[in-house]
Amino acid sequence: MISPSRGPERLVRAGQWLVALLFAYFLIQVGGAVIADLPLLSKPPTLEQFLDRAAVNGLENDLRPLESRRQALADQLQAVEQRQADGREAYDRDKAAFETWRATRSATAQSAQNPEVISRARQLDLQLERQRQRSEERQQLQQGLAGVEAAIAPKQRRLDGLRSQAERRLAGARQRTELRVFAIRLLFVGPLLALALWQFRRFRRGEQWPFVWGFLLFALFAFFVELVPYLPPFGAYIRYVVGALLTVVVGRALIAWLKAYGQRLQREQAAPAEQRQRSIRYEKALQAISRNQCPGCDRSLPRHEGALPDYCMHCGLQLQHDCPSCSHHTLTFFPYCPSCGAAAGSAAGSAAGGPAADGAVSDGAVAAS
Ligand SMILES: [Zn+2]
Ligand SMILES: [Zn+2]
Repeated sequence: MISPSRGPERLVRAGQWLVALLFAYFLIQVGGAVIADLPLLSKPPTLEQFLDRAAVNGLENDLRPLESRRQALADQLQAVEQRQADGREAYDRDKAAFETWRATRSATAQSAQNPEVISRARQLDLQLERQRQRSEERQQLQQGLAGVEAAIAPKQRRLDGLRSQAERRLAGARQRTELRVFAIRLLFVGPLLALALWQFRRFRRGEQWPFVWGFLLFALFAFFVELVPYLPPFGAYIRYVVGALLTVVVGRALIAWLKAYGQRLQREQAAPAEQRQRSIRYEKALQAISRNQCPGCDRSLPRHEGALPDYCMHCGLQLQHDCPSCSHHTLTFFPYCPSCGAAAGSAAGSAAGGPAADGAVSDGAVAAS
């Protein structure tokens, strides 16, 4: 295979790509820091800013004694209920004991125990009376509690209303702040991307191409990656829309290139053979040949027993000829004969004084491969 590029050329090209990537890397680092340091313009809003402090304080002051009163009543109520439950339990227990005792007494029929029956029955009555009192006490407490709660409810509702109103306004303010933060960054990154694309269009083939590429990579990264943390809810749309637009631009460029390529090939193939041979660049010809492609029509050239065909079977371009000076069979694209050194295009006679004019004549058709 004959590689058309000179040795250091490939190294230099790799170096240039390295420069492009390094340039992009450092720009990305700087850009990330700048984007993060762009001013927020305002502190994030807090709930306190939107709360009617005076009204809230007034309501809270009103509510505080009511709340403690409610707590006290609830505690008392709980204590009474506990006492009531205990009393009920004691009464049930005592009553059961009394019934058992009376049953044994009827069985034994000891009339001497009558006064004890009366006293025990009275005790049970007393217990019932105490339970009734507790019931009353409990009812009163419940009424008191209901009254306090009725006093609390409207004030609590107003307080809740004030708070939720403030929260709604806070949410709105947060959204506006977010939007502002994003807009500032977009104003920085958007023009950067536009500048990078414009630059790329104009200067990507220039000598400074590594910097053009580096700058484009940086701008793309800044737009599609570094902007992400500041995106508002609809920010994703902006990214996708810009992404879609860029894809369309690249796709259209590709289509235009394909069209131009087809037209160029047609034009070239219509030209006379001599002119075609000359119009094909040396590097391009060698590159194509090393890939087994015709330099004229870019179609593949099957080798026959390792040898290149003399003419392209697709477009008729001459690929190999015999040197006019020494008849060495070689590529038509070489500017000098690899056997006798005669300059291509010079007649056999004019090459007579050449460095290898007296050299051996090689008749063997050696295919350049
Ligand atoms: Zn061809
Ligand atoms: Zn020759």
